[in-house]
Amino acid sequence: MIYLDNNATTFLDPRVAEQMDALLRRPLGNPSSTHRYGQEARALLGEATREVAHFFSVSPSEILFTSGATEGLNMAIRSVPPGRHILTSSLEHSAVLEACKCTGCEVTYLDPEPGRGAITPAQVEAALRPETALLVFMAANNETGVCTDLPGLAALAEASQIPLVVDGVGIVGKGNCPLPRGVSAFCLSSHKIHGPTGVGVVVIRKSLPCTPLIVGGPQQRRLRGGTEPLVAILGCAQALKRSGERCEEVAQLRDYFEHLLVAHIDQLVIHGRSEPRVNNTTSVAFLGVEGEELLIQLDMRGIAASHGAACASGALEPSRVLLHMGLPEAVVRSTLRFSLSRFTTREEVERTVSTLHTIVASLRTSPFRKERP
Ligand code: PLP
Repeated sequence: MIYLDNNATTFLDPRVAEQMDALLRRPLGNPSSTHRYGQEARALLGEATREVAHFFSVSPSEILFTSGATEGLNMAIRSVPPGRHILTSSLEHSAVLEACKCTGCEVTYLDPEPGRGAITPAQVEAALRPETALLVFMAANNETGVCTDLPGLAALAEASQIPLVVDGVGIVGKGNCPLPRGVSAFCLSSHKIHGPTGVGVVVIRKSLPCTPLIVGGPQQRRLRGGTEPLVAILGCAQALKRSGERCEEVAQLRDYFEHLLVAHIDQLVIHGRSEPRVNNTTSVAFLGVEGEELLIQLDMRGIAASHGAACASGALEPSRVLLHMGLPEAVVRSTLRFSLSRFTTREEVERTVSTLHTIVASLRTSPFRKERP
C-alpha cells in the first residue's frame, strides 16, 4: 500500500510507538496523586510540557494538552464574548467554521483573492472593525498546502491589539514553525505528526483570556478538567520533538513528484504552485477526469490519496476550499490531493505517477466517461 494521505492522518512513528508501549507497561499513577506513583507521573507530565514549550519557545505555563486541534480551536474561539465581531476565512477547516458559529458573534468569512490560496494581511486589515474581537486563520491550508503570511498577520494582530488564533495543524512538522509574538493561540493535533490520536496541544498566551470548555478537576491550571492522558501526552511530545526530521527531503520528493506528473501526464493543473507552500502537499487537477473515479481506481491499485469531503450520503462533495479560490467546479471535481510524509519513498512516488498515467489515460478515453451537464 502506498499511503499519500498524510494530511488526513499519519501513521504512528515506530519509535514513538515503542516509547509509548514501554510506558503503557509501567505502573503509572495519576499525576494529581501525592504518592510516589503520582509524583513520578507528575514529573513525566512536567517533562513533556517543558519539551513542548521548548519546541515553541514559550513558557510551560502557556501549554495546554487537549484531545486534538478541534478541541483547542473550540476552546480558543469560544472564549470570545458574544456580540462582538470575528474575522476568519472561507478556507478554514470546519472545526473553525463551526466553532465560530457557536460564539454569538458576527463572523466575516474572507475569500482569497482570485486564484490565491491564502488570505493576505492587507485583506484582514481592510476588514477590521472597531468591534473586531478575534482573528482566526490557518497557518497552512490542509488541501492545497498554501501558507498564510503568519508573521504579517501576527504583526497586524499585535499592532491592533486583537487576539489571533492560529490553526497550526497544516504547518507543524512541515518545516520551520516559529510562533510570532502576535499569535495568541496556536492549535495542533498529534496524529498529524506521526504521534498518537486523541491528543493535541494548544499554546495559549496571556493576550487571549481563555475560558475552559471542559470543567471538572483542577488539572491544567483549571483550564481543562479531567485526568491527563499521560502516555498519549508523552507520545505527542515525542512526536513533536521529531517533527522537524527530513523536512528538506520531503520537499525534494514532493517537487520530484510534481516534476514527474508534469512530465508524464498532460492537461493537469497544480493548485497554489506559485505560492509559498508546505513541503508535502500536491493538489492537482487532472482535467477531464472525475476525481472520485480516479480515487477509487487508485485505491484498487493500493494507492491512498484524497478528494473533497464526504457528504451525508457518502458521496464526495467538491472541495469548498478550491471553490472559494475561484476555481471552476469541473476543475475542482477533477482534483486530488496527495500528501507525503517523511516515510514516503522515491519508489512510491514513481509508482504513483506511472499508475496515475495509466488510469488517467484510460478514464479520459473511456466510452463510459461521465459527462456532467
Ligand atoms: N484544522 C485543519 C487544517 C485540519 O486539517 C484538521 C483535520 O483534518 C483540523 C483542524 C482538525 O483536527 P482534528 O480532527 O485532529 O481535531
